[in-house]
Amino acid sequence: MKAEIIAIGSELLLGETIDTNSAYLARQLAGVGINLFRKTVVGDNTERIATAVADALARSDLVLCTGGLGPTKDDVTREGIAQATGQALEFRQELLDQIAARFAAFKRQMSESNRRQAYVPADARAIENPRGTAPAFIVEDERGVIIALPGVPHEMRFLFENAVVPYLRDERGVQDVILVRTLHAAGLGESVIGERIADLMEGSNPTVGISAKQARYELRIGARADSVVAAEEMIVKVEATIQERLGSYLIGAETLEQQAFRLLEEQSLTLTLYEGATAAPVYRALSVSPAGLARLRGVMIHPLDRPADEHAAAALAFSGAISASDRWRSDLGLGVQAATLPDESGLTAVSVALVFHNGSHQVTRHYDLRQTESWDFVGTLALELLRRHLLGAET
Ligand code: AMP
Ligand code: MG
Repeated sequence: MKAEIIAIGSELLLGETIDTNSAYLARQLAGVGINLFRKTVVGDNTERIATAVADALARSDLVLCTGGLGPTKDDVTREGIAQATGQALEFRQELLDQIAARFAAFKRQMSESNRRQAYVPADARAIENPRGTAPAFIVEDERGVIIALPGVPHEMRFLFENAVVPYLRDERGVQDVILVRTLHAAGLGESVIGERIADLMEGSNPTVGISAKQARYELRIGARADSVVAAEEMIVKVEATIQERLGSYLIGAETLEQQAFRLLEEQSLTLTLYEGATAAPVYRALSVSPAGLARLRGVMIHPLDRPADEHAAAALAFSGAISASDRWRSDLGLGVQAATLPDESGLTAVSVALVFHNGSHQVTRHYDLRQTESWDFVGTLALELLRRHLLGAET
């Protein structure tokens, strides 16, 4: 079954409301094994809603709409769907009775405009909304099924879980589950990872995808099967293959920080930082996992006041790591120092040193520090050096 989502509301197009409903529906569809092919956002306009719905029906079997079912004149999803399916709107007394009962229960006066919400396309099956006034509805057309859900997020979620999922399972034979597992990796370029698992990324079930952020990678494995156990089995197989191909560059389910902290904890080791820049990239990266800060004994932030070239930066990263670890008597010292002058291509050398009782590791890379995000890459480089050392992997 191919599905599409249409989020309806001019506030979504104006950027005033973030379309969280589509993201929710996308995850839910994945969970019941329905392939989502497209998301559309359209304003509160009958013509454009009708066009979006008709276009979606031409491509897909299931069209999930959210929004535009309110009582006011600008909520025209009912009209748009009626137009797309060539039906008239029909008044349903039982819907008005439900809405009236809801107002009575809250001891409020129902207004005349709520009457609009008792109209649905003539062939629609209405779904009572116990969480709000806007009834949802299902229209079956020879091209596919359209389901209209309210825009208020908690109402939409309630109706999706309690009416739409049972409908899809009982009447549309939807049985599959899709399981998604996310794995983290670092220390290799995206293209290298991509090459090593290229064949896996070509498969359609299970699927493997990769996304990159700050020199860290998220590998997503998705498997579709008729049971959770079967999907899990497929995922475990692919995971083993990825592990084989990436070796210690695959971090696993943990993030880089989480794993580095866990290894420090397990090995009863403490850490100090020497940060030769106010950007303090390593501390900043570490502080996203506050639990692990327990292993951190101290942070020295020391922006340079005299020019340093690549060699001076390397020497300062090293001596800074030593003096920080001496000062706080930690087992490990991690030092970061950037050169003060970029080279002719605008790149600046950044050196990372890790010192420990009987040795040290050091790496120097070049970054465009005019872009502040480059510091995130430096943080990743330093933590990856630490993680690999703790794992006993090649650094
Ligand atoms: P509506 O059903 O269009 O009257 O929407 C009611 C309220 O739900 C709006 O005022 C928004 O705050 C919210 N809403 C509508 N659509 C969405 C959406 N796609 N994502 C998140 N919130 C929404
Ligand atoms: Mg609206």
